[in-house]
Amino acid sequence: MENKAYIALGSNMGDRLDYLKKAILHLESHENITVVNTSSIYETDPVGYTNQDQFLNMAIQVMTSLKPFELLDVCLNIEEQLGRKREMRWGPRTLDLDILVYNQENIETEKLTLPHPRMSERAFVILPLLEIDPNIMLPTMKEPLKSCLQSIPDKEGVRIWKRKNGEDVFALIEN
Ligand code: ATP
Ligand code: MG
Ligand code: MG
Repeated sequence: MENKAYIALGSNMGDRLDYLKKAILHLESHENITVVNTSSIYETDPVGYTNQDQFLNMAIQVMTSLKPFELLDVCLNIEEQLGRKREMRWGPRTLDLDILVYNQENIETEKLTLPHPRMSERAFVILPLLEIDPNIMLPTMKEPLKSCLQSIPDKEGVRIWKRKNGEDVFALIEN
């Protein structure tokens, strides 16, 4: 499993925690993916289309032997298996799995853009990601990602909901 990737998870419909847990279990059960780190879980106010329920968001780090487009297909399949419907862009969802970073790949296609094109303006992505890798560098930026922190909006809309070293979160990757 030679490739390192970071994935953002989000849910704001139904049993949000259960969708996050199931997503991690699905990823972990794939023979070419190992989940090596998980952030705390954050509850976040919706941004963009704000007339929807609050999200749970987190970030995870995986090691994988899959190529970027293969990893994307696995993510999109898991979303579908967990009931994701695409009715409205940025609307409510049972589960969103976005690949944030894959090694130092820089890919710009419609099907897959890496690093994720909107990540560095989103507090609900950056805060969990920096929790698991405070010094992460993106191939598209000269400064470490943490240098964006000061200037990103909506940080107050992102609150820790379940802390990483709480029992429940450890259980996420252990069962
Ligand atoms: P956003 O991308 O702004 O977070 P979203 O996650 O709600 O919006 P989706 O409906 O989940 O958007 O995805 C739409 C398409 O985006 C997917 O079908 C996928 O092909 C494409 N996509 C491009 N780059 C990525 C990426 N890095 N991770 C996941 N999907 C991506
Ligand atoms: Mg998304
Ligand atoms: Mg998505």
